Amino acid sequence: MIQAPKGTFDVLPDDAERRSHLEAQARKVLGAAGYGRIETPSYEATELFARGVGEATDIVQKEMFTFDDGGGRSLTLRPEGTAPVCRAYVEHGMHKLPQPVKLWYMSSFFRAEAPQRGRYRQFWQVGAEALGAEGPETDAELIVLLAELLEAMAVKGLRLRIASLGQPETRANYRRELTAHLRSNEHRLSPDVRARLDINPMRAFDATDSSTREVMREAPKLLDRLAPEDAEHFSAVRELLDGAGLRYELDPTLVRGLDYYTRTLFEFSSEALGAQSGVGGGGRYDRLVEQLGGQRTPGCGWAAGVERILIAGAQQPVAPDPVDLFVALARRDSASATVAFELAREARRAGLAAQLDLAGRSLKGQLKQADRLGARYVAIVQEDGDASLKDMASGEQSELGLAAVIPTILRGSRL
Ligand code: AMP
Repeated sequence: MIQAPKGTFDVLPDDAERRSHLEAQARKVLGAAGYGRIETPSYEATELFARGVGEATDIVQKEMFTFDDGGGRSLTLRPEGTAPVCRAYVEHGMHKLPQPVKLWYMSSFFRAEAPQRGRYRQFWQVGAEALGAEGPETDAELIVLLAELLEAMAVKGLRLRIASLGQPETRANYRRELTAHLRSNEHRLSPDVRARLDINPMRAFDATDSSTREVMREAPKLLDRLAPEDAEHFSAVRELLDGAGLRYELDPTLVRGLDYYTRTLFEFSSEALGAQSGVGGGGRYDRLVEQLGGQRTPGCGWAAGVERILIAGAQQPVAPDPVDLFVALARRDSASATVAFELAREARRAGLAAQLDLAGRSLKGQLKQADRLGARYVAIVQEDGDASLKDMASGEQSELGLAAVIPTILRGSRL
């Protein structure tokens, strides 16, 4: 038997219902704040992610599904949504629109990660990006919107952590300071951290072994090194969050696996998730658009994992689609089958939810199936091409004739 590839999954009808519900909530929460839907292609030029996400990141180094387009051009299945949205912003000259341009998406993304619960190779993210505004209100509003969406989905055990990364220059200086600290404590670091010391020293804050963690507790913190205007921006964001009554923790060690962030950084996690606890996060990326060849444009946004929201959210029961009419056949001949087929089609054209027996069941079997579906009425097409109608709630049956079936159901009157 051929199975779905490792790290992928099928979305079956009940699950699809939950996803549609999430999509509707995202549309409601983000639409109310002026965000418009955007969808970008599933794959992009590899260079977009190499330049946008950053050469040194895990994503670019080892998690991208990259392929040749047959003409020597390297393409990559999108591992994230921010760089593509910025690419689209530049490509469509959206800087000419009133700023900021506020966009949201719900799309699938691809990362060659080791699969486990909540971590897949093809997964979905709902995301929001605001391009062209640098004030702290944008950051705070985006954080509040994600909080609202997670609340609307009843995500349990939420925790919000925030930090600020300042500017790349501040970070470069800080990185030197941090690397020096790590070097002078090299013998206490885990082999893993030691190996990546020069590539990405910030990741040492993610280490789980006690010896490395101790070194990191003594390490200098970026939040203490911010330039005055960045520190001011961050405190304004915090004041707005305080005003909105949103609870958060300051986490000077917060790191995210993408290089493009400047200033605000945030992440929501949930206790309901286990090891892969990140529900969604994001931050400000004031240099990204320029890095991708556009004009200097401030930006801020987030992405949240659809599967993780659904795992950590309340499992609302999925109501089955109502069935107004089930069309059954008293006898299976081609004339009756044609009448039944037409009746179901006419009923749907009249706005009713109508199903036809497609499994060749006996009349008894068809009535049983109609009952299972919760059908309100069953039309039984007779041998002479006429039809009777059975009200499933009362059990009453009437020989009212084919032409009267749809009007009777539309009137909703009892038989
Ligand atoms: P990131 O783009 O890495 O900031 O991830 C944002 C959110 O997307 C995370 O908090 C997760 O909820 C979700 N996510 C990231 N990677 C995966 C994955 N491989 N499988 C499922 N969800 C993921």
